Amino acid sequence: MSNLLGLEVKKIVETTPEEVERVKEWINTDEYREKNFARQALVINPVHACQPLGAQLAAHGFEGTLPFVHGSQGCASYYRSTLNRHFREPAPAVSDSMTEDGAVFGGQNNLHEGLENAYSIYKPKMIAVFTSCMPEVIGDDLTAFIKNAKQKAVVPKELPIPYANTPSFNGTHIHGYDSMLVSILQNLTEGKQIEGRCTGKLNLIAGCDFNTGDYREYKRILKEFGIPYTVLADISDTFDSPCDGSYHIYAGGTKLEDAADSINGKATIAIGPYATPKTFGWIKDNYSGKHVTMPMPMGIEKTDAFIMKVAELFGKEVPASLKNERGRAVDAITDSHQYMHGKKFAVYGDPDYLMGYVSFLLEMGARPHHILCSRGSKKVEKELQALLDGSMYGKDCSIYMNKDLWHLRSLLMTDPVDAVIGDSHGKFATRDAKVPLFRFGFPVFDRVNKHRYPLIGYQGTVNMVTEICNKFIDIKDETCEDRYFELMR
Ligand code: SF4
Repeated sequence: MSNLLGLEVKKIVETTPEEVERVKEWINTDEYREKNFARQALVINPVHACQPLGAQLAAHGFEGTLPFVHGSQGCASYYRSTLNRHFREPAPAVSDSMTEDGAVFGGQNNLHEGLENAYSIYKPKMIAVFTSCMPEVIGDDLTAFIKNAKQKAVVPKELPIPYANTPSFNGTHIHGYDSMLVSILQNLTEGKQIEGRCTGKLNLIAGCDFNTGDYREYKRILKEFGIPYTVLADISDTFDSPCDGSYHIYAGGTKLEDAADSINGKATIAIGPYATPKTFGWIKDNYSGKHVTMPMPMGIEKTDAFIMKVAELFGKEVPASLKNERGRAVDAITDSHQYMHGKKFAVYGDPDYLMGYVSFLLEMGARPHHILCSRGSKKVEKELQALLDGSMYGKDCSIYMNKDLWHLRSLLMTDPVDAVIGDSHGKFATRDAKVPLFRFGFPVFDRVNKHRYPLIGYQGTVNMVTEICNKFIDIKDETCEDRYFELMR
């Protein structure tokens, strides 16, 4: 065997084609599955991204805000490219590019130089700082570093610089999102609470949601109600801005003054209790008005709960337009449920997404046969089990906590399902298992415009039903005998 230079290379290990074939077969067996599930010290293809990526998403949700990575440049490129590939939009962020000397002497010099450059070049209204693993390992003190930067007039004293520690060896993108969001809100609302003042608005936190269509859908629903609102960390325009021939580094985002005034809101709803526990806990203790945390409104039941809660908080009737929308969604389900009824699914993703997928599938009479979460807890497991126990279609379904997509592959090969719901990383396993993958999560790199189609609300339910049922009909059309191939079913 020769390499690219034409030089002879001696193989270290000889593997015969027969052995390769044997192992290929073996990894599809129950015996291998047992060994795979006994694995402890290794994660293969995890169902999550790292903490700072979530922090960057939260930072992008605010007007004029420059996400700033204190740490390695390679890590920053990973977050930027992941967001960029998912949204097909730029994800402008900077890094102070810590290298070996920063790792030995600490990253304060990098941070100060980076802040000075970033402020003078990109003229942000706010810089949101978060960390990659390296400064977390060496224990960089962000509080002191940023205080020193202001004392040394590296950046103006009045420039808001919220910061979050986002060590990836302890958590996932949802934890980074939560830490960054609470820090931004703490920074912007400091000293802004005014006794007796009420903005009359609903503050809405969409959770660590990478679907711009969902944000627009929440806003549309609130407009139908005629309720004034502030969506906190609103990425809808940041990552879905119009193509007008010019580049806007800070497209969209929640206005900083609205975010500051959100502390005087009439009510706050935080969607996704598992995505923002720190933020919601802090809001409960500090914000005026009422505070509620709710599951993602996916499917009819969870959307009803969201709509009724909004109506209750603001003492309003549900508008006729939303009632009609609900009726149309129920009609869409009734027209198509037979294509999903009884079908077995595997689902994986973040806890809040999983609650939504499972609830929706059970409503459709489908079975969420394998439910896999890469960073879950006993509480998540209990809540999922309660959903399963509440439906006859949840019988014999299994929950796998803290497992990865290599575990999922074993499940698909030994206990097959009809389809899988998750992000793009599941494509290898679903391809091996020869079942369709419905890409509803994050990231979705290998399909276009998915982030523009909402999954929440009645419209999101219609979108999911349509995509799933039409795929099953496609498969039938492509594989059925001629006598079943007809225009009407
Ligand atoms: S896990 Fe740590 S080292 Fe890896 S990309 Fe994320 S922050 Fe960087």
